[in-house]
Amino acid sequence: MSNETMKIPQATAKRLPLYYRFLKNLHSSGKQRVSSAELSEAVKVDSATIRRDFSYFGALGKKGYGYNVNYLLTFFRKTLDQDELTKVALIGVGNLGTAFLNYNFLKNNNTRIDCAFDVDPNKMGTKIRDVPVYPMDDLEKYLGNDDIHVAILTVPAPVAQVITDRLVNSNIKAILNFTPARLNVPPSIRVHHIDLAVELQSLIYFLKHYPTEEAEE
Ligand code: ATP
Repeated sequence: MSNETMKIPQATAKRLPLYYRFLKNLHSSGKQRVSSAELSEAVKVDSATIRRDFSYFGALGKKGYGYNVNYLLTFFRKTLDQDELTKVALIGVGNLGTAFLNYNFLKNNNTRIDCAFDVDPNKMGTKIRDVPVYPMDDLEKYLGNDDIHVAILTVPAPVAQVITDRLVNSNIKAILNFTPARLNVPPSIRVHHIDLAVELQSLIYFLKHYPTEEAEE
């Protein structure tokens, strides 16, 4: 990643893929400029935040003109490394893992699950949507080569840490953790944690205790 990107705050960086997806759609429909209000409505981020985010990219919208869609798209493509295919490994081909293998990540961004791993003899040696499922014993063999640095973890929680340790020793730099386990990793490794059950529970809690404006009417 370039130095320019390093200066962007993390909260802003997390919103980049959201902006990028919307701008790509705008671009395909032939739109050349967009206002922060339009963006705000589409991506559900308030326009003050959008203006602040975009100021980090050197994109200063003009009053009455908005932002140049082409400029922003070029910036995002470069920043998000969209010109380069990112290969990802998936560990744990259960229900969730299989759904990810069936999901076409390439549709929206330049990311592809390249290989999967499991301990289940019925799964090893098979392919799901052209993605080979290898035995866990071969993890180091396949990840040892240089070009896979990202892994998705969809294994049962009790084995998550042991597998994470192996991933860290196999050149993986970033883990998208779908298990409920909190992972210990060295500071150089980035982990994003998505616990679907917690997210759902939190959504339901908010629905009950913090009604939206519309619901209050
Ligand atoms: P999901 O949680 O995705 O719905 P599931 O309920 O089908 O999956 P789990 O028991 O959660 O199954 O296991 C997910 C996958 O992880 C399974 O395919 C299982 O074989 C695999 N798995 C279990 N232990 C390990 C391990 N130590 N290393 C790699 N994969 C494992």
